[in-house]
Amino acid sequence: MSDNTLIQTENLGATLALMSRRYSDSRKASEIDWTGSFENYCELVSKKPGLARNAYQRLYDMIMLEGTEMRKSRFVRRQVPHYFFFDDKEHGGAQAIFGIDFNLDIMMKQVESASRGYGQERRAFLLLGPVGSAKSTIASRLKAGLEAYSYIPDGALHSFSWKSQAYFGFADPERTKKFYDGEWFGCPMREDPLKLIPMQEREVFLKSLGITNYEHLMTELCPACFHVYEKLLKQYDGDFLRMIRENIQVERFTLSEARRVGIATFQPKDEKNQDSTELTGEVSNRNEVIFGSDTDPRAFNFNGEFQVSHRGIIEFVEVLKLDVAFLYDLLGATQEHKIKPKKFAQTALDTVIICHTNEPEYRKFIKNEGMEALRDRTIRITIPYGVTLAEEEEIYKRDYGRKFFGRHIAPYTFRMAAAWALLTRLKEPKHHGLSLLQKMQLYNGKNIPGFTEDNVVSLREEAENEGMSGVSPRVIQTQLANALVTMGDKGEALKCVNPFMVLRQIEEVLKDDSKVGTEEDRKRYKDLLAVIKDEYSDLVKRDVQMAISADEDALLRLSGNYIDNVKAYTQREKIKNKFTGNEEQPDERLMRSIEEKIDIPETRKDDFRREIMNYIGALALDGKKFDYKKNERLTKAFELKLFEDQKDTIKLTSLVSTVIDKDTQEKIDIVKARLEKNGYCDVCATDVLQYVASIFARGDQKAE
Ligand SMILES: [Zn+2]
Ligand SMILES: [Zn+2]
Repeated sequence: MSDNTLIQTENLGATLALMSRRYSDSRKASEIDWTGSFENYCELVSKKPGLARNAYQRLYDMIMLEGTEMRKSRFVRRQVPHYFFFDDKEHGGAQAIFGIDFNLDIMMKQVESASRGYGQERRAFLLLGPVGSAKSTIASRLKAGLEAYSYIPDGALHSFSWKSQAYFGFADPERTKKFYDGEWFGCPMREDPLKLIPMQEREVFLKSLGITNYEHLMTELCPACFHVYEKLLKQYDGDFLRMIRENIQVERFTLSEARRVGIATFQPKDEKNQDSTELTGEVSNRNEVIFGSDTDPRAFNFNGEFQVSHRGIIEFVEVLKLDVAFLYDLLGATQEHKIKPKKFAQTALDTVIICHTNEPEYRKFIKNEGMEALRDRTIRITIPYGVTLAEEEEIYKRDYGRKFFGRHIAPYTFRMAAAWALLTRLKEPKHHGLSLLQKMQLYNGKNIPGFTEDNVVSLREEAENEGMSGVSPRVIQTQLANALVTMGDKGEALKCVNPFMVLRQIEEVLKDDSKVGTEEDRKRYKDLLAVIKDEYSDLVKRDVQMAISADEDALLRLSGNYIDNVKAYTQREKIKNKFTGNEEQPDERLMRSIEEKIDIPETRKDDFRREIMNYIGALALDGKKFDYKKNERLTKAFELKLFEDQKDTIKLTSLVSTVIDKDTQEKIDIVKARLEKNGYCDVCATDVLQYVASIFARGDQKAE
């Protein structure tokens, strides 16, 4: 909408004036304040029949406006559309929805059918998922999207106002004057102006404007307008056009939850306090005084959530906590597109109804026979937690990545928190020899020998209800926030937040028996925390090891040395010692110390060495030279060997002591610098070096 170019002028007055002009220009450009006659509006609609769409069509078009892209899914054997709308570019991703494209697509198919009038528009959408899944984010995203859509030309909506004399036309002109004289009085339900067309002529007229889906326009005006309309038409002797020309002005309007226009939310309070007027409105005492009767429809206050939502959307939070009496209102609104306010005529309603609930409530609902009618009238859409690591990590990065002002976030901090959350959600694989952690990695796209893409689909299929239980992102978000405000031992602010701080916070939560799951769950979650700690240790050990052995010259020397020895060995030759110039036997100890790093047994060493020489020979035939980097296994072997050699020369274990000589310190600084190149800061680089050193000091020689 408005561009964000910086305003640069010398003084505040000029800046204000410029800002104001830009704002009003943009409003004019998008014609937000458009007003016109009824005939002007008909002209607009004949050019763009979509202006008179129903609420479902509007919602569908709004989502499709941002486009889709077919993406490969790891969990089904076909591509799944990704709807860019749910990335929430509008708010920089603040309401982005990650990792449930498949479920969103199921929802979108239903929205599409509803928008075409296939029957789904007469059912309520019920998002079902565990606490803290994206249910309410989806509803928020739809609501915010509709609001923004109403501000652009594509999403324009129009309604009409009455001349106040027409609306407040009392027999006594003095009395009329007293109320709103000279003003325009808007339709309290912001009806489409086309609903002013006399019913018996309406269908033909709508068709002539090119409107094909007009069921929602074939209902009566809101009771207040209908009352005035009938009265005036009589006065004008049935001259519809004259009546409209003299009393009606058409206006564009925009949706807003804050202004209570077209976007509504209903959240049940405790049962005693539920009051049907919250949904369907009530007589206003003030209006009753004006109109002199509580049966005059103009005395009615059309401010129930349903009326507010007319032409837009209504969200029912925890819908199944709703008092049964209200469920009838919900049923009517869903099935008949009508609401029945207390003591007043039925009112037509055009709104998208989106409800959500969690599993325990839903199970009660399914068992309750009294709820059968509603059950038939809902489209259930499952919204599970995410089960892919990268996307889960994205949620936390989005939330906290920007808010850690000035603090560094150590590598793997978000990933380890996300990984733990995922492990709590995944079902133990039935596949023999596959750990839960490996299953998570498979889901995340990692190649594990022996598993095909098809296996991953099967793993997901066999795990019924996966993602419908476990720990919600909210739990992680809270613990990340807690870790963020953690102070050092001396009460100082910490410069860097690392995975251990977050895992410690999570451990604390698991001690509290009220916060997460059942006792049994918590025990399992705690065990999973240990799995994550191991995984983290492995990752940082690898990082440290890579940093130590990232010396390319040394690797190249080692590679050359090894190949020379292998060559001499396979050809039963001697090798020339570079220092002494003496002919010597190939260095068996060197070769074995490398081969052992990649588990080549003594009995296989001859084969292995021959394979290498064959490989080098084949390269030579092509005129190519051997490059160890092209061979993953050898690279790994050389790195591990180099690490083993170097970890002693830099006395990694001495890091746990306080006295370090200058030479060692220099070597450590080089390693730290390499870690810092890979996302560590000074603090966490030192931390992981000490951590890894302490592992080696304990005698854990496993270096991978
Ligand atoms: Zn009205
Ligand atoms: Zn750091």
